[in-house]
Amino acid sequence: MSLHGTYDPQNIFAQIIRGELPCYKLYEDDDVLAFLDVFPQSSGHTLVVSKKAAARNILDIDADNLCKVMRVVQQLTRVLVEGLQPEGVQVVQFNGAPAGQTVFHLHMHIVPRYAGQGLGMHASSKADPAELEQLQARLVKCINRL
Ligand code: 5GP
Repeated sequence: MSLHGTYDPQNIFAQIIRGELPCYKLYEDDDVLAFLDVFPQSSGHTLVVSKKAAARNILDIDADNLCKVMRVVQQLTRVLVEGLQPEGVQVVQFNGAPAGQTVFHLHMHIVPRYAGQGLGMHASSKADPAELEQLQARLVKCINRL
Protein backbone atom coordinates (compact mmCIF):
# COMPACT_ATOMS: atom_id res chain seq x y z
CA MET A 1 0.00 0.00 0.00
CA SER A 2 1.55 3.28 -1.04
CA LEU A 3 -0.02 5.16 1.86
CA HIS A 4 1.86 3.03 4.35
CA GLY A 5 5.32 1.59 4.03
CA THR A 6 8.99 2.23 4.36
CA TYR A 7 10.66 5.44 3.21
CA ASP A 8 12.86 4.79 0.17
CA PRO A 9 16.02 6.93 0.40
CA GLN A 10 16.52 6.49 -3.36
CA ASN A 11 13.34 8.38 -4.29
CA ILE A 12 13.87 11.26 -6.74
CA PHE A 13 13.43 14.05 -4.23
CA ALA A 14 15.85 12.45 -1.75
CA GLN A 15 18.41 12.32 -4.57
CA ILE A 16 17.74 15.99 -5.39
CA ILE A 17 18.13 16.95 -1.72
CA ARG A 18 21.48 15.11 -1.56
CA GLY A 19 22.60 16.91 -4.73
CA GLU A 20 22.82 13.65 -6.70
CA LEU A 21 20.25 14.92 -9.22
CA PRO A 22 19.92 18.51 -10.46
CA CYS A 23 16.97 20.78 -9.89
CA TYR A 24 15.85 24.31 -10.74
CA LYS A 25 16.30 25.53 -7.20
CA LEU A 26 14.30 28.52 -5.99
CA TYR A 27 15.04 28.46 -2.28
CA GLU A 28 17.05 26.47 0.25
CA ASP A 29 17.78 26.69 3.95
CA ASP A 30 18.98 24.09 6.48
CA ASP A 31 15.58 22.42 6.63
CA VAL A 32 13.68 23.07 3.43
CA LEU A 33 14.30 23.01 -0.33
CA ALA A 34 12.02 24.44 -3.03
CA PHE A 35 12.42 23.87 -6.76
CA LEU A 36 10.46 24.00 -10.00
CA ASP A 37 8.44 20.97 -11.07
CA VAL A 38 9.94 19.71 -14.35
CA PHE A 39 6.51 18.43 -15.47
CA PRO A 40 4.64 21.59 -14.53
CA GLN A 41 0.87 21.77 -14.51
CA SER A 42 1.16 25.54 -14.97
CA SER A 43 3.93 28.09 -15.35
CA GLY A 44 5.67 28.44 -11.99
CA HIS A 45 4.58 25.07 -10.55
CA THR A 46 6.83 24.72 -7.52
CA LEU A 47 7.57 21.88 -5.10
CA VAL A 48 8.59 22.37 -1.48
CA VAL A 49 10.22 19.52 0.49
CA SER A 50 11.66 18.91 3.91
CA LYS A 51 15.39 18.15 3.80
CA LYS A 52 15.41 16.65 7.30
CA ALA A 53 12.30 14.48 7.50
CA ALA A 54 12.46 11.06 5.86
CA ALA A 55 8.68 11.15 5.51
CA ARG A 56 6.63 9.64 2.70
CA ASN A 57 3.54 11.69 3.41
CA ILE A 58 1.64 13.85 5.87
CA LEU A 59 0.99 10.86 8.13
CA ASP A 60 4.72 10.34 8.66
CA ILE A 61 6.17 13.82 9.08
CA ASP A 62 6.75 15.37 12.50
CA ALA A 63 4.94 18.63 13.19
CA ASP A 64 8.13 20.68 13.55
CA ASN A 65 9.40 19.83 10.07
CA LEU A 66 5.92 20.21 8.59
CA CYS A 67 5.73 23.74 10.05
CA LYS A 68 9.11 24.58 8.52
CA VAL A 69 7.88 23.37 5.13
CA MET A 70 4.62 25.31 5.42
CA ARG A 71 6.37 28.55 6.34
CA VAL A 72 8.35 28.35 3.11
CA VAL A 73 5.21 27.36 1.19
CA GLN A 74 3.50 30.55 2.35
CA GLN A 75 6.51 32.74 1.55
CA LEU A 76 6.93 31.23 -1.90
CA THR A 77 3.22 31.42 -2.65
CA ARG A 78 3.47 35.16 -2.01
CA VAL A 79 6.54 35.38 -4.27
CA LEU A 80 4.87 33.42 -7.07
CA VAL A 81 1.73 35.53 -6.88
CA GLU A 82 3.69 38.78 -6.91
CA GLY A 83 6.19 37.64 -9.54
CA LEU A 84 3.92 35.84 -11.97
CA GLN A 85 0.61 37.61 -11.32
CA PRO A 86 -1.66 34.56 -11.61
CA GLU A 87 -5.35 35.08 -10.90
CA GLY A 88 -5.35 32.12 -8.50
CA VAL A 89 -3.00 29.69 -6.82
CA GLN A 90 -3.44 26.11 -5.63
CA VAL A 91 -1.47 24.69 -2.70
CA VAL A 92 -1.90 20.93 -2.75
CA GLN A 93 -0.39 17.73 -1.40
CA PHE A 94 -1.17 14.09 -2.19
CA ASN A 95 -0.89 11.03 0.05
CA GLY A 96 -0.74 7.56 -1.52
CA ALA A 97 -0.93 6.53 -5.17
CA PRO A 98 -4.76 6.43 -5.28
CA ALA A 99 -4.72 10.10 -4.21
CA GLY A 100 -2.32 10.98 -7.03
CA GLN A 101 1.05 10.76 -5.27
CA THR A 102 3.88 9.61 -7.53
CA VAL A 103 7.00 10.56 -5.51
CA PHE A 104 7.06 9.21 -1.99
CA HIS A 105 8.86 11.99 -0.16
CA LEU A 106 6.42 14.47 1.37
CA HIS A 107 6.09 17.58 -0.78
CA MET A 108 3.77 20.50 -1.22
CA HIS A 109 2.76 21.71 -4.68
CA ILE A 110 2.30 25.43 -5.33
CA VAL A 111 0.46 25.75 -8.64
CA PRO A 112 -0.24 29.24 -10.00
CA ARG A 113 -3.54 29.37 -11.90
CA TYR A 114 -4.14 31.75 -14.76
CA ALA A 115 -7.61 32.86 -15.82
CA GLY A 116 -8.80 30.96 -18.89
CA GLN A 117 -6.02 28.37 -18.71
CA GLY A 118 -6.86 24.82 -17.75
CA LEU A 119 -4.67 22.77 -15.45
CA GLY A 120 -2.04 20.66 -17.24
CA MET A 121 -1.99 16.89 -16.70
CA HIS A 122 -0.27 15.79 -13.51
CA ALA A 123 3.38 14.77 -13.98
CA SER A 124 2.98 14.29 -17.72
CA SER A 125 4.76 16.76 -20.02
CA LYS A 126 8.31 17.88 -19.47
CA ALA A 127 8.89 21.63 -19.66
CA ASP A 128 11.44 23.21 -21.97
CA PRO A 129 14.68 23.48 -19.92
CA ALA A 130 15.33 26.99 -21.30
CA GLU A 131 11.92 28.15 -20.05
CA LEU A 132 12.53 26.61 -16.64
CA GLU A 133 15.91 28.34 -16.42
CA GLN A 134 14.34 31.71 -17.29
CA LEU A 135 11.57 31.21 -14.77
CA GLN A 136 14.06 30.16 -12.11
CA ALA A 137 16.17 33.30 -12.69
CA ARG A 138 13.09 35.54 -12.58
CA LEU A 139 11.73 34.00 -9.38
CA VAL A 140 15.10 33.90 -7.60
CA LYS A 141 15.35 37.66 -8.24
CA CYS A 142 11.93 38.13 -6.60
CA ILE A 143 13.03 35.98 -3.63
CA ASN A 144 16.27 37.92 -3.22
CA ARG A 145 14.29 41.16 -3.07
CA LEU A 146 12.39 39.92 0.03
P1 5GP B 1 3.15 13.81 -6.66
O1 5GP B 1 2.51 13.12 -7.80
O2 5GP B 1 3.98 12.80 -5.89
O3 5GP B 1 2.24 14.61 -5.78
O4 5GP B 1 4.13 14.89 -7.25
C1 5GP B 1 5.38 14.59 -7.74
C2 5GP B 1 5.74 15.73 -8.64
O5 5GP B 1 7.10 15.62 -8.96
C3 5GP B 1 4.98 15.77 -9.97
O6 5GP B 1 4.30 17.00 -10.09
C4 5GP B 1 6.06 15.59 -11.02
O7 5GP B 1 5.81 16.38 -12.15
C5 5GP B 1 7.30 16.02 -10.30
N1 5GP B 1 8.53 15.38 -10.72
C6 5GP B 1 8.72 14.09 -11.07
N2 5GP B 1 10.01 13.86 -11.34
C7 5GP B 1 10.66 15.04 -11.14
C8 5GP B 1 12.02 15.43 -11.26
O8 5GP B 1 12.92 14.65 -11.59
N3 5GP B 1 12.32 16.73 -10.97
C9 5GP B 1 11.34 17.63 -10.59
N4 5GP B 1 11.74 18.87 -10.34
N5 5GP B 1 10.04 17.28 -10.48
C10 5GP B 1 9.71 16.00 -10.75
